[in-house]
Amino acid sequence: MSKPIPTDRSESVFEDYKHEYDAKQAAVEANRCLYCSDAPCTKACPTHIDVPEFIRKIATGNLKGSARTIFEANILGMSCARVCPVEVLCVGDCVYNQMGVPPIQIGKLQRFATDHAYAQGWRLFEAGAPSGKSVGLVGAGPASLAAAHELRRLGHACTVYEKRPVIGGLNTTGIAPYKMRADRSVEEAEWVLGIGGVEVKTGVEVGKDITLDRLEREHAAVFVGVGLGPDTRLGVPGEDLPGVHGAVEVIERMKLGKLALEGVKSALVIGGGNTAIDGVRELAGLGVPSVTLVYRGSEAQMPGYRHEWLAAREAGVASAFHAVPVAFEGSGRVQRARLVRTDAQKKPIAGSELSLDADLVLMAIGQSTLGQLLSGLAGVLVDKGRIVTDESGATGRKGWYAGGDCRNGGKEVVNAAAEGKAAAQAIHRMLGGKDA
Ligand SMILES: Cc1cc2nc3c(=O)[nH]c(=O)nc-3n(C[C@H](O)[C@H](O)[C@H](O)COP(=O)(O)OP(=O)(O)OC[C@H]3O[C@@H](n4cnc5c(N)ncnc54)[C@H](O)[C@@H]3O)c2cc1C
Ligand code: SF4
Repeated sequence: MSKPIPTDRSESVFEDYKHEYDAKQAAVEANRCLYCSDAPCTKACPTHIDVPEFIRKIATGNLKGSARTIFEANILGMSCARVCPVEVLCVGDCVYNQMGVPPIQIGKLQRFATDHAYAQGWRLFEAGAPSGKSVGLVGAGPASLAAAHELRRLGHACTVYEKRPVIGGLNTTGIAPYKMRADRSVEEAEWVLGIGGVEVKTGVEVGKDITLDRLEREHAAVFVGVGLGPDTRLGVPGEDLPGVHGAVEVIERMKLGKLALEGVKSALVIGGGNTAIDGVRELAGLGVPSVTLVYRGSEAQMPGYRHEWLAAREAGVASAFHAVPVAFEGSGRVQRARLVRTDAQKKPIAGSELSLDADLVLMAIGQSTLGQLLSGLAGVLVDKGRIVTDESGATGRKGWYAGGDCRNGGKEVVNAAAEGKAAAQAIHRMLGGKDA
């Protein structure tokens, strides 16, 4: 199973940024819902949780029923309640927005119901009658967890191979701690696998410790949910100086243990996406005196969520827009970044160099892809590092399925959960089972 994570972690200093509801607040909010037929909030959710149904059940005091409605659609409903960008999904589509009235706080209500289920120790699902078939799942992130749970409900035995010592994927190692801490993600993963009949092999890297051939021989089907790889690099001089790191790598260190930041006075985070925004908020929250986000476009062109960036600005994070590093310099470790200004098309402007002090730099310009893991398998197509599948998650090789970030190129936890579940149902049909 998962290796225990230390209790004293750098991430532990962060408070929850969205306060949880007490029973009275949840009842008031649930009673505001209009229980729309053809609800847009349900359509906006990739797992199509029946939002009016679960909210109605909270309003009538049926918390167990509410939790069941959520988990039936999305077994990762507890973490999604915390980490989903609801502002651009269900809450963003609530009809109240069009009336100039605050939308229903669907995420907070979902958290109320799912936290209650965890606190009560409710186990809402059982494994199906044994099918005699076994499925191998590569990676123990949200995609594989959702797939394994669904496969167990359908009666198939599962073995999960995870290269890290901990389970939960980026939910454990990447999510900003003010949304969810690592221990909560491991608890969720163990709760999901608590359905029974799933063997978890941590510390096993597929492709290195066990071959694809062997997986194919040992299992009737294989689901690949390996996510994305290490942070990508700019390829500029000085990028290998001590003090210049990948953002996802540093976030993982903060979440699983102690991140040494003593003496760091000014940090730069390079990038304009959600990982960059998480990075600046986390460094500011950990007490780094000066934190600056450096992005090659304008503030309006940032691909990260606007509401998250506004929160970073409120936390005192500075910005350097229309700037891109051309070199990192320092003796022994990084001390400054040399940058050039960019134009409206994000192209460097010649002769426009500037320099910023930095004793820590996080590169948050994207993650590499891992699809090449399957590139030697005849029939499997890999396009720009992504594993190509049909709608259901099936690759071009019989018995091989994929879902989550390695298939969609990097979306959200809720997409990984939806794709993992859909692939499990497709595997079931392929193994001769009736429609789930
Ligand atoms: C910094 C950061 C913050 C994020 N914040 C949010 C957020 O707030 N909300 C949100 O919804 N989404 C967020 N995301 C995105 C979200 O975490 C991912 O979309 C989601 O975790 C994808 O799930 P997955 O199962 O496809 O992959 P992952 O979560 O990456 O899990 C893949 C697993 O496979 C394992 N693995 C890889 N290769 C092998 C191999 N060869 N053999 C065995 N195991 C292997 C990995 O160790 C990992 O545990 C964030 C991502 C990052 C990087
Ligand atoms: S759109 Fe808003 S009001 Fe309508 S069902 Fe969804 S949450 Fe309730």
